[in-house]
Amino acid sequence: MEHLLSVEQARKIILSNFKKNKSTTIPLEQANGKVLAADVFAIFNQPPFSNSSMDGFAVKAEDTRHATPDQPVELVVIEDIAAGYHPKSQINNGQSSRIMTGGPLPPGANAVIPVEKTNFSDRYNQRARPSSVLIYKPANRGDNVRPEGQDIHQGEKIFQQAHKLRAQDLGSLAAQGIAEVEVVKNPVIALLSSGDELLKPGDPLVPGKIFDSNTITIKTLLESFGASVINLGVAKDDVRDIKAKLDLINDLDLDLLISTAGVSVGVFDLIRDVILDNGKLNFWKVNMRPGKPLTFGEFQNVPFIGLPGNPVSAFVSSLVFVKPVIQHLLGIDQKEELFKTVVDEEISSDGRESYLRAEIRIVNGVYHARLASHQGSANILSLVYANALLIIPAGVKSVPEGKTVDFFWI
Ligand code: AMP
Ligand code: MG
Repeated sequence: MEHLLSVEQARKIILSNFKKNKSTTIPLEQANGKVLAADVFAIFNQPPFSNSSMDGFAVKAEDTRHATPDQPVELVVIEDIAAGYHPKSQINNGQSSRIMTGGPLPPGANAVIPVEKTNFSDRYNQRARPSSVLIYKPANRGDNVRPEGQDIHQGEKIFQQAHKLRAQDLGSLAAQGIAEVEVVKNPVIALLSSGDELLKPGDPLVPGKIFDSNTITIKTLLESFGASVINLGVAKDDVRDIKAKLDLINDLDLDLLISTAGVSVGVFDLIRDVILDNGKLNFWKVNMRPGKPLTFGEFQNVPFIGLPGNPVSAFVSSLVFVKPVIQHLLGIDQKEELFKTVVDEEISSDGRESYLRAEIRIVNGVYHARLASHQGSANILSLVYANALLIIPAGVKSVPEGKTVDFFWI
């Protein structure tokens, strides 16, 4: 029997050829989706000073203890505190300062009475600072005050290294006055498609030809994992054209070269020949479906992965083999998160580890799966209708309706 590598074995061998990329410091505006190279700690307490969460009056809570709508407490107003203003006056018993949302709590005050609970609820027609205010409701200490350090204390860890930065993360760094972050350098991947049959979307369709869909799919997918992708274009099934397109990588600082199609055993699968003449190539029979022999090697000392040409196979192989490489280069050592779903129809498999396109819905709090359209590896629409890939383990030929299998979202 021919030797078959398991998906896990193939992934391990591939990953052993890569190590984490170096780090680089970039401005915050360019850091969306980038991966932190180091832990980040709070530089100062957040918020940096106690401040008001309402428009109102800063008071000593004790002074308001007996306030009611019928018998309000009257306090002298000594200062106006806008956001961004530094209070000058200490609040003593019987006193208050008018304060706006975000205004620093003045010394001596320990609570804020919202304007709605005073005789200044009509704030738009009462701009000038009043000499006194009537308080209709008592406050407890700390009411409507955002105390210094409520969000985070100086020195506490905000982010763990390998965290992928999102909008709110960038905001929290900005709130700490941070303008630049140290991130892991993006993996840079060059992508070559190949085939005489391929036309550029936008060109007229001619008999016998199809439009190139892999380039945009794989490029977009890999970018969504955090790689920068350089498109080398579409090579003809011609050794000189393939070599010329591959030579475009000579001046690039690449982490990985990928091709789609042209590496199986057809007479015109010439990428294989060009790589072999200029580097190394291993064909592995991987116990996986969809997926032809997976090709891994080296071209001009750059690691090379040959993806299948069929759009679904190229997509699934990218998820199963290329995504882990990108994550490894980024220092993210995290496996694909798997969930469990009930299958609503019998599923047959051929005993290889199979990745089947499925539509998953929640019924009474439980995931239920049905296969999405035709499972042929050229049928890209099955990936459009699917929201998940079911994993049927190696050795399993049939999953009866009602049984549970692993899946991950796509
Ligand atoms: P190959 O690996 O070259 O034998 O290609 C396998 C199948 O994938 C063939 O049906 C090709 O037409 C198809 N194919 C190859 N490259 C692409 C592409 N870039 N976009 C869409 N289909 C492709
Ligand atoms: Mg081909």
